[in-house]
Amino acid sequence: MTVPVFRFAPSPNGHLHLGHAYSALLNQRMAGETGGRLLLRMEDIDLERCTPELEQTMLEDLQWIGLEWGTPVRRQSEHLTIYQEALNKLIRMDLVYPAFLSRSDIKRETGRIAGNKDNWPRDPDGALLYPPGDRHLSKRERDQRIGAGQPFSWRLNMEHAFEYVGEPLSWIETAPQEHIVPARPQDWGDVIVARKDMPTSYHLSVVIDDALQGITHVVRGKDLFHATSVHRLLQQLFGIEPPVYHHHALILDRDGQKLSKSRKDTALRELREEGKTRQDIYRFVGL
Ligand code: GLU
Repeated sequence: MTVPVFRFAPSPNGHLHLGHAYSALLNQRMAGETGGRLLLRMEDIDLERCTPELEQTMLEDLQWIGLEWGTPVRRQSEHLTIYQEALNKLIRMDLVYPAFLSRSDIKRETGRIAGNKDNWPRDPDGALLYPPGDRHLSKRERDQRIGAGQPFSWRLNMEHAFEYVGEPLSWIETAPQEHIVPARPQDWGDVIVARKDMPTSYHLSVVIDDALQGITHVVRGKDLFHATSVHRLLQQLFGIEPPVYHHHALILDRDGQKLSKSRKDTALRELREEGKTRQDIYRFVGL
């Protein structure tokens, strides 16, 4: 029988808060209950915002709340060539294209096509779907722009990817109980698979890493529920066996808002300095 493998995958771009503590400890509890292992991954592809100091602080905070993880810790910034290879595969399959529009270009262009950008569809995170123009550029035009140094990201041609897969996708979700969720990657339009100046994006690296680390159970916040549709599509394109997913409820602040890394009062660091104990943290997050 294979041993279940769980992971906690924070981005070291700020301090951990109670929401992270809940996610990490829930992973630990579920790994314990199933005789599984827990791995830790630093999702640090944002080289500007993620720093070794913040990572060090995260490791200390995680130790303080009693998290125990298998080593080594995987750092995404150390594996950029692996993501580049995955991206190259998508380029060879002709499923991605260089996308030149900046965020303000997207606003302008969708407003122009739809009369008003508010009439344009948005993805589950509320961002405007990428307009079709760049998808249809000729190879010559693309090469010219790239040659002229115009910045671009790589976007998935959702329509082609869909055709390539040729069958409806779904995933096994265990929150609140086990059930099948139909995947709807089309709701995201042409998602970014590699950012400007980076051979990857959150979606691409998370899929590659979960596979390489042998993750069987992804336990993460509900805010990433819809992203799983994109992950299922990428897994299918790469021939990756999907893990089981568990999207847990989020810890909210008193106003019902998602906690953020910029808030001080729920940061683990602050709570520790105030004299709170590990037991207090367990109690605060309801574990
Ligand atoms: N790095 C992501 C975050 O900190 C989590 C990614 C995941 O669990 O899939 O929100």
